[in-house]
Amino acid sequence: MEAQLLQAQKMQAVGQLTGGVAHDFNNLLTVILGNAEVLLDEMNSHDAHRKLVEPIVAAAERGAGLTQLMLAFARRQALEPSTFDLNEVVTRMNALLRRTIGENVEVDLRLTKGLWKVIADIRQMETAILNIVFNARDAMPQGGKLTIETSNVELSDDYATHSVEVSPGQYVLIALSDTGIGMAPDILDRIFEPFFTTKPVGKGTGLGLSMVHGFVKQTGGHIQIYSEIGHGTCVKIFLPRAKTDATTAVQSARAPTSLAT
Ligand code: ADP
Repeated sequence: MEAQLLQAQKMQAVGQLTGGVAHDFNNLLTVILGNAEVLLDEMNSHDAHRKLVEPIVAAAERGAGLTQLMLAFARRQALEPSTFDLNEVVTRMNALLRRTIGENVEVDLRLTKGLWKVIADIRQMETAILNIVFNARDAMPQGGKLTIETSNVELSDDYATHSVEVSPGQYVLIALSDTGIGMAPDILDRIFEPFFTTKPVGKGTGLGLSMVHGFVKQTGGHIQIYSEIGHGTCVKIFLPRAKTDATTAVQSARAPTSLAT
């Protein structure tokens, strides 16, 4: 399971990276190809410089073909949103979460009744929860407590002014808190950076929280992390409330690819 998750995290990161790179290269290639073609048009058929410009056009065309392939790969990472109840997801994952966190950690689920539905990619949501729980486990080697709490929240303009990235509205909040080692402010500042890890080689990829951050942002939500050395860490994810309360199956139609995180 952990190996699969590591792989999924890597693929996700590679997908985002590839999509970003391909997009930028496409723009550069368009400039190269466009100008090289203009040059060719302006040269007569006997111009000695044609031999220098023709390979530029051919190479740029080949590059454009490759970037199309890369973009197609990146699009496979697109989200598949559906409407669901986050409490049901947490309840379904309960046994897995308890196994993951280990016997010396108490798990406390505080799931609010009447929770609004959210609209998100359910598999990515599960992966996000698992990533956060892996971190909680690593932060509590001597044991401790993991609390998972859900609630409906209405973020006001006031709240938004306290936190730069928050836009007001109705959200479902899932808060995962551990009583672990916590983080110093300089670590906290960097946790969403891809490949940033303080764990030994083979234990951490530094992709967990960057993937969670990317997913939450793509979903139109917000993520906040509070941490205190020696006391623990709390990860709060706000997902936008679904417009309808009807639960939907996972849709096969893919959402437009958004590669920005
Ligand atoms: P990884 O777990 O592979 O290192 P993450 O992106 O999930 O990658 O986390 C990055 C870093 O953030 C971790 O290496 C760790 O230093 C810190 N971190 C994340 N979650 C916690 C937590 N709950 N308690 C303490 N430190 C944490």
